[in-house]
Amino acid sequence: MLDNLTQRLSGVIKNLRGQARLTESNIQDALREVRMALLEADVALPVVKEFAAQVKEAALGHEVIGNLNPGQAFIGVVHRELTRLMGEHNDALNLTTTPPAVILMAGLQGAGKTTTCGKLAKLLHDQHKKKILLVSCDIYRPAAIEQLRTLATQLGIDFFASDISQKPQDIALAALDFARKHHHDVLIVDTAGRLAIDEAMMAEIQQLHATLKPIETLFVVDAMTGQDAVNTARAFGEALPLTGIVLTKMDGDSRGGAALSVRHVTGRPIKFIGVSEKPNGLEAFHPERMASRILG
Ligand code: GDP
Repeated sequence: MLDNLTQRLSGVIKNLRGQARLTESNIQDALREVRMALLEADVALPVVKEFAAQVKEAALGHEVIGNLNPGQAFIGVVHRELTRLMGEHNDALNLTTTPPAVILMAGLQGAGKTTTCGKLAKLLHDQHKKKILLVSCDIYRPAAIEQLRTLATQLGIDFFASDISQKPQDIALAALDFARKHHHDVLIVDTAGRLAIDEAMMAEIQQLHATLKPIETLFVVDAMTGQDAVNTARAFGEALPLTGIVLTKMDGDSRGGAALSVRHVTGRPIKFIGVSEKPNGLEAFHPERMASRILG
């Protein structure tokens, strides 16, 4: 996570003491510190630039009111702008459709897709009392199908068996048919990832998307991958009409920059964050709370 930004700013905002308003010249050092902190946290450069410009605009002429000191006022501005950058509020899943609501999971191998399928199934089952069906369309790695089956069994969630001799689209259609017949509320579809963006993978998931017409298409990305997370997000966002992002491994020692960049780069909301390997390690993403965590 970003080093505690408030602490980092404490040195430079001392200069603001006694100032009645925030001006271009008196916030210069503080702004530079914000830019440096974000760059060090792996936030994409265009995002850093735009963010700094927004903080500046919001801060200028900001009258220091009440018993706030100018430093606190500046931090308040940074907090509001961070929250805005990450999307203001939590965007919940939209499952309002004729059941089964299909959730298509996309992302690179190792991002945490399969784990997230299990976590999401558990969350929707436990908190929303939904009847869930899990299916894997990853025909390239038998272990991937097995991993989802094991998770489903552990969690007591229905699993639609598939095997590597089938085509992903056929698996998807059969699972959809099964879910309809057995009155599942939600069908969660795990897909094959690759180690890097590749055309065949994109074509396959685009086809799956066209076949399934999911109400939610979630892009799962490892927060630890920093700048790469942003590039991958952009590529998936161009290939698929994503409805949301899941940032995994937010419990790791990632510098947190991905949380700030991906929303801005894709225009899609971060809906959930992964905070542990365990099945209950999925949380709704709240921009305001994340901003507070960054500011410390
Ligand atoms: P997939 O290839 O995208 O399906 O990725 P997996 O679901 O197999 O996950 C890859 C690895 O990341 C596994 O060891 C998971 O336990 C781990 N993992 C996934 N999500 C999280 C998370 O939020 N936090 C932590 N610490 N590990 C995670």
